[in-house]
Amino acid sequence: MSDKIKHCCQLMTKFVADPRVDVEYLEYSRGYYIDMGPEADEFILYCPFCGSKLPENLHKKWLEILEKEYDLDDPTSDEQSSKVPKEFNSDEWWKKRNL
Ligand SMILES: [Zn+2]
Repeated sequence: MSDKIKHCCQLMTKFVADPRVDVEYLEYSRGYYIDMGPEADEFILYCPFCGSKLPENLHKKWLEILEKEYDLDDPTSDEQSSKVPKEFNSDEWWKKRNL
């Protein structure tokens, strides 16, 4: 196996990358979800494959920082989403801040 392990274990890394498996990883919030259909994603705290506790989901922090530092109180709205700095659409912002 030459695949780099980006997540807690090999299975998680494999399934996150596999579109047939409904486990999703969102880089911007470092959140893990199980896709249960439209509007019904379930946030997971522990890896279902190896049982380790997953890193803290940063979605709330994301909202906080965007409001505090960029004055965006509704960054997912049509009006404001274009003003969200590029680094906030990836894992760049939390890696930079060592979160
Ligand atoms: Zn795991």
